[in-house]
Amino acid sequence: TAQDSGDHYRIYAPELDTRWQHRLALEGELRHALERGQLQLHYQPQVDLESGRVVGAEALLRWFRPGHGLVPPLEFIPLLEETGMIVQVGAWVLEEACRNARHWQDAGLPPLRVAVNLSARQFQDGDIGALVGRVLTETGLEARWLELEITESIVMRNAEAVTRTLDRLRGQGVSHSLDDFGTGYSSLSYLQRLPVSRIKIDRSFITHITSDPHDAAIVQAVVGMAHSLGISVIAEGVETEGQLGYLRGLRCEEIQGYYFSRPLPAHDFVALLYEDRRL
Ligand code: C2E
Ligand code: CA
Ligand code: CA
Ligand code: CA
Repeated sequence: TAQDSGDHYRIYAPELDTRWQHRLALEGELRHALERGQLQLHYQPQVDLESGRVVGAEALLRWFRPGHGLVPPLEFIPLLEETGMIVQVGAWVLEEACRNARHWQDAGLPPLRVAVNLSARQFQDGDIGALVGRVLTETGLEARWLELEITESIVMRNAEAVTRTLDRLRGQGVSHSLDDFGTGYSSLSYLQRLPVSRIKIDRSFITHITSDPHDAAIVQAVVGMAHSLGISVIAEGVETEGQLGYLRGLRCEEIQGYYFSRPLPAHDFVALLYEDRRL
């Protein structure tokens, strides 16, 4: 519809208004979600293909929004990033994940790596190096049990500063993985310069790995390239036994995906560890 606004016509789009209102409401509620305890972490097991055991867990943010239930991260994390709230929430995620990992060790469970997602804003607006140091000290988690998941887009924004920060953390024993590998501008020379000990092959390459020779070839090349650089590989989004078998054949080190387990609330994740469920 067009609305008369004096000497010219302005396009009036009610759906834009609605979307804007929706966003404002979401933003307002998100501001209080942390203090109201509505944010939680779920943990998805990362399984070693040789031993079949859970060796790590990726911490994934969840928002239980009253009246709406569980809001998927892709619907609110971009908003956290745009508003800068991700700096505060991200610090909480890191602390909560490290606290839990330490807690599980104290309970006598075999130690495992906890992987935490970082976003670009945390490098731009926050001091990741100082934050990680403080959190490790406060929670008592040894650095070697923490892995930071970074994406190429984070590195691209400020390669020098990000690499320096990651290098320093690696010197302290923290490891890094390159998330969503294959979706960005990954090149061999680039990977060689980054202080990452693991790459996570994106789910989009795994989904058709058994039916699409093109995807299979890419994954095979990526695994070979990573191994030749001494970098280990985890495949994301593994849902079938066929995919698992294929990845085994490529000597991929670890898998993460619904085939073994969906991301679980801490309580259910711990139950899985106690069961000592294997692949
Ligand atoms: P991501 O880092 O690539 O995380 C993996 C996503 O794949 C998760 O979605 C996980 O639930 C999903 N997934 C795992 N296995 C399978 C599978 O077998 N099949 C399918 N279809 N999906 C699988 P989720 O939890 O919805 O998270 C979405 C994205 O939100 C994450 O993608 C990550 O980019 C972001 N995110 C989540 N938590 C955090 C956080 O604490 N901080 C930041 N900065 N980003 C986060
Ligand atoms: Ca991730
Ligand atoms: Ca990923
Ligand atoms: Ca992803």
